[in-house]
Amino acid sequence: MSEEGKPKIIEECKAKFEKRIQKATTAEDIEKLRIKYLGRKGEIRSLFGHIQEIPPEKRGEFGSHINELKTYMEQKIQSVSDQLENFSLDATTEKPYCDLTLPGVPFVMGHQHPISQIIDDLLDIFRSMNFDVVSGYEIEDTFHNFDALNIHQWHPSRNPQDTFYVDPEHILRTQTSAVQIRAMENGTLPLRIVSMGRCYRRDASDATHYPVFHQIEGLVIDKNVNFCDLSGILTEMMTGVFGTRVEVRFLPSYFPFVEPGAETFISCPFCGGKGCNVCGKAGEIELGGSGMVHPQVLRNVNIDPSIYRGFAFGWGIERIAMMKYQIDDIRLFYDNNIDFLEQF
Ligand SMILES: [Zn+2]
Repeated sequence: MSEEGKPKIIEECKAKFEKRIQKATTAEDIEKLRIKYLGRKGEIRSLFGHIQEIPPEKRGEFGSHINELKTYMEQKIQSVSDQLENFSLDATTEKPYCDLTLPGVPFVMGHQHPISQIIDDLLDIFRSMNFDVVSGYEIEDTFHNFDALNIHQWHPSRNPQDTFYVDPEHILRTQTSAVQIRAMENGTLPLRIVSMGRCYRRDASDATHYPVFHQIEGLVIDKNVNFCDLSGILTEMMTGVFGTRVEVRFLPSYFPFVEPGAETFISCPFCGGKGCNVCGKAGEIELGGSGMVHPQVLRNVNIDPSIYRGFAFGWGIERIAMMKYQIDDIRLFYDNNIDFLEQF
């Protein structure tokens, strides 16, 4: 119960209604709102469904609070609807063209999408570590997306059932790593870059897959870099994203473009490694691949691996956002559901 004695569930319903009605700008919006709240399967009706959960002696009071809210909503809907009608721009009606004494039609302020927020946070972190931010092509040729990255002709990721082909030589990029290759081809050494952007794979959409997603990709090429540098940079990056100190752990793994390669884990930022629901009691979270750039990849872009070494990492941004905001379905980012997006 709240201070005024109204159950929280009723107050929340009222607050949501207020927020929505402020944004109603057309008769259609108002009608949708009326159906959502006062309709046969509306919110008010569902509030009455909760009466079973209330102790019998309080049910009367609970019911009268709902009725009060219902009357309030009816009046509010009527008054906003009247206002909108008076605001008619139809000069042929006898109603005034515009009543200047009426309150204005509210403008809804938008804000950044959660994925854009994460991207901006990441960009700030990498700029502070003196990385150049580079971008690439979303339609990429197979050399830059596969061959140069040591991904052989027979590799399953080249299959047209996994990759969107534009023509036999061009695809919608499946990873941002192609940007690394272009940067190594064009850039002067040493190189310290980060790249973020959309990637495409022919995945059926489910809770953890979507045909379009975003990746962040980092690459450092210099004469004397090693796994410790990689570990330090990833620690800074994830500490920045989660706002709490995390530890990075590597587990040996295979990716064609790195040697040695590693699956990368961070200590769970929510429980500090003790184990919680977010990390599935493991105390750590798997984030994606990283490793030292394969000598053949360096040779492919005419860099001498006996002089230069490098490390790279590439992770899904949606995955980071899902961890940070504890979202269990990637599709929510793309549904354009205003109730979801307003939470960020
Ligand atoms: Zn945890």
